Amino acid sequence: MSKAEQIYIDNYKAGLSVEKIVAKYGCPPGYIKKIRNLVREAGVLRSRGAKRTTTFEDGRKCSKCGEVFPITAQYFYRDKHEVEGYKNKCKKCCGTM
Ligand SMILES: [Zn+2]
Repeated sequence: MSKAEQIYIDNYKAGLSVEKIVAKYGCPPGYIKKIRNLVREAGVLRSRGAKRTTTFEDGRKCSKCGEVFPITAQYFYRDKHEVEGYKNKCKKCCGTM
């Protein structure tokens, strides 16, 4: 593990979100995924508690209707607070499709 990677993990352990770490160190946007993998490998990834969403290899199960859709803007609205960057309800259940 590189020194930079250790710093990211330490920051995460200190309570910073992955997004905040990326912003703090001015990392490229792709680092969100990278750091998330890093903390997962280090075994320190925090669970999101009640906001659990079933995620599949190539799709996401809508938390309301239970249907599985590809995780794309065609089926889900963007939500940067969510893990994959999309809401956990499909567009149809958000009332517009
Ligand atoms: Zn739905």
